[in-house]
Amino acid sequence: MNENIQPAEKRKYLKDKVDSVKRRNDMRKEKPKPIEGKINFSSGSIDEKNLIYEMTNDIKKAMGGGNPNRTTNKDMLFEVMTFYIKNNITQLHEDQHMAEENNIPFLDCSFTSCNEETSTQKLFVTAETSIENLIKRVINHGKVCKSQLHLNSTDIKGHVGVCKLKCEEKHELLWSSSPYMGDKYLCNLRMSHGFYVSGMLPNQYSRFCQASNIGTIGETTMNSIFQKYAPVVSQLVKESYETALLEEIASYEELQEGIDIVTDARHYFTKKNSMYTDKICLGARTHKVLRVETISKVDCTRPFKDRHFRTDFQESSVHCYSSDGKKIWRFHKGDALGTRSICCDSHGNAFVACQDFNRVILISKDGTSSKVILETNKPKAICYDSVKSVLYVCSLKRR
Ligand SMILES: [Zn+2]
Repeated sequence: MNENIQPAEKRKYLKDKVDSVKRRNDMRKEKPKPIEGKINFSSGSIDEKNLIYEMTNDIKKAMGGGNPNRTTNKDMLFEVMTFYIKNNITQLHEDQHMAEENNIPFLDCSFTSCNEETSTQKLFVTAETSIENLIKRVINHGKVCKSQLHLNSTDIKGHVGVCKLKCEEKHELLWSSSPYMGDKYLCNLRMSHGFYVSGMLPNQYSRFCQASNIGTIGETTMNSIFQKYAPVVSQLVKESYETALLEEIASYEELQEGIDIVTDARHYFTKKNSMYTDKICLGARTHKVLRVETISKVDCTRPFKDRHFRTDFQESSVHCYSSDGKKIWRFHKGDALGTRSICCDSHGNAFVACQDFNRVILISKDGTSSKVILETNKPKAICYDSVKSVLYVCSLKRR
């Protein structure tokens, strides 16, 4: 700065300079910050990485009229991607669209999309051989007629679609989406098989079918299928039990005291609100199902609901309580050893399996007297069917 400038001028100069810096900073603050984006990539070698940089530089150079610095990376990427999309992706959509309009099957991709209106169209279950059959028949029609076949109507029978195809020359073609098996449609048979084995309840099945809009097999058809189905399944179940039992037996080196089983049958009717319950018996070693029994609430009524029994195996005693927990009687007799399972008849007398006494005894309802009603080896679980008046006994040792 010149030495002979007056102090007043110098002050003004400095003030102007400070103001201009302030203005510039304010302007910078007002200008929106650019939003940054990044694309990272990995390459197999340095050469490859450098090649990519060279290529981007070449494109930027071409775009900037020889000077790569005139083009930003963003503009370069935008240009390259637009070029690709225009030449590949858009072309594909246009081709497909044209093919659909001209009814020419587009060989690479024949997936069609549906709109809101067609999303509620009729759905049905079909089979591979039925599709084959349709192709053959359409080709045969094409040999004798130039006119195009159109879907005229669809009738849903169970889960099967019965479609009527028509051409302008009034040729009619009736096609069902399922082949027959005997006098029933295969698709309906398979669907009912699925229903039977799924454990679905009838109302769940019909709700499922209604919601998915795939047709429903009516009750009459379902029953008639079941009539044929049930004996076959029973036979298969029987064979399965037999095989499972043989396999369980074969898993023992030497079978001396019978096989061991795992079962939930000793428990009382556990599902209080259900009409039926399954009791299952598995082989302890193979875990294969040896037996399934479905029991209903009717089979399983306890005749004396106000009496509760407890057996003490160690002490070899039987205890009877009222429903409010008061002890009514205690039974203990020297030879009635190893008291296990208990159940009572319709008069309130109690059957007790005495495992170590090898007998099942009947205790009178007042708990004072008893008599032996069955001699058997190691009785463990017992159950009295008061409807049929039958006592079931399960022994610890199978002999
Ligand atoms: Zn025709």
